[in-house]
Amino acid sequence: MASLADLRTFAKYHLKRRVFDHPARETELGLVELPFEGDEFARSLASLDDRYELSVPARLEYGGRTHAMHRIASRSPAVGEARRTLLVLGGVHGNERAGILAVPEILAHCAEPSVRLVVVAPVNPVGAAELSRYNADGFDINRDFVRFETEEARLVRRVVEEEKPDFVVSLHEGPQDRTFMFLNRYVDAGLAHRLAAALERGGTTLAAEDYFGRRLAPPGLAPMSRSMWLITALWAATLRMKATGMWCDERGVPEITLESSWRLDDREARVRAHVDLVTALVDELARS
Ligand SMILES: [Zn+2]
Repeated sequence: MASLADLRTFAKYHLKRRVFDHPARETELGLVELPFEGDEFARSLASLDDRYELSVPARLEYGGRTHAMHRIASRSPAVGEARRTLLVLGGVHGNERAGILAVPEILAHCAEPSVRLVVVAPVNPVGAAELSRYNADGFDINRDFVRFETEEARLVRRVVEEEKPDFVVSLHEGPQDRTFMFLNRYVDAGLAHRLAAALERGGTTLAAEDYFGRRLAPPGLAPMSRSMWLITALWAATLRMKATGMWCDERGVPEITLESSWRLDDREARVRAHVDLVTALVDELARS
């Protein structure tokens, strides 16, 4: 049974696209901060320049500083030449830093000649610097895939149009105490089971409940049920808000939103879930 506090939290995250007018620091619901520094992140990408094409498609100003959105793409195979293209979004919510910190390791690990890997991170660089879910203007980018009022969501749309990914993974964290994934309707059930098994083999503990308290059976997997799809479609139609999972669903593209636990003190464990998921998915795409 949801408490009034839970309902208020739900309303805060789902009924408004813009809760603040600035990148409010967001540490409620037990978030343990993982350190993130934009320049250091850029340096860690620079060392991968021999295998990946690096660019900064947007620089966003906030607080007297410039915050870079990075786009990283396999040099080989090039766009249009890959058998499969995987797009990874890191840090759509800037305070969920494990999914950003995992990016250099993901890039270092993934080397499948038939799979083109494209990463945009941080999708919300101002939020990443400010430990905020929101961008410089206080918008939740992951509610903006109907109106595209934020530069960040428009950039993701442009990358999807240019790359035409076969699969999208968005790396998030949440207040539940274990890891799970939201799956849109195009994620194959067998594939999802194998990916969950790969996470477990890597030492990730899968959640038996998502952050709404719904039971996950098997643990770790939250497929989009028919009722959830209807609620999400209604939410999009009435409040004109949509997250990347539903936006990809509408385009017939499978999307996984990974949610590690932001309550864990263990940086390595939080980051590992993101690395293991993308690595396992690249292997799967190479074999499919
Ligand atoms: Zn998130």
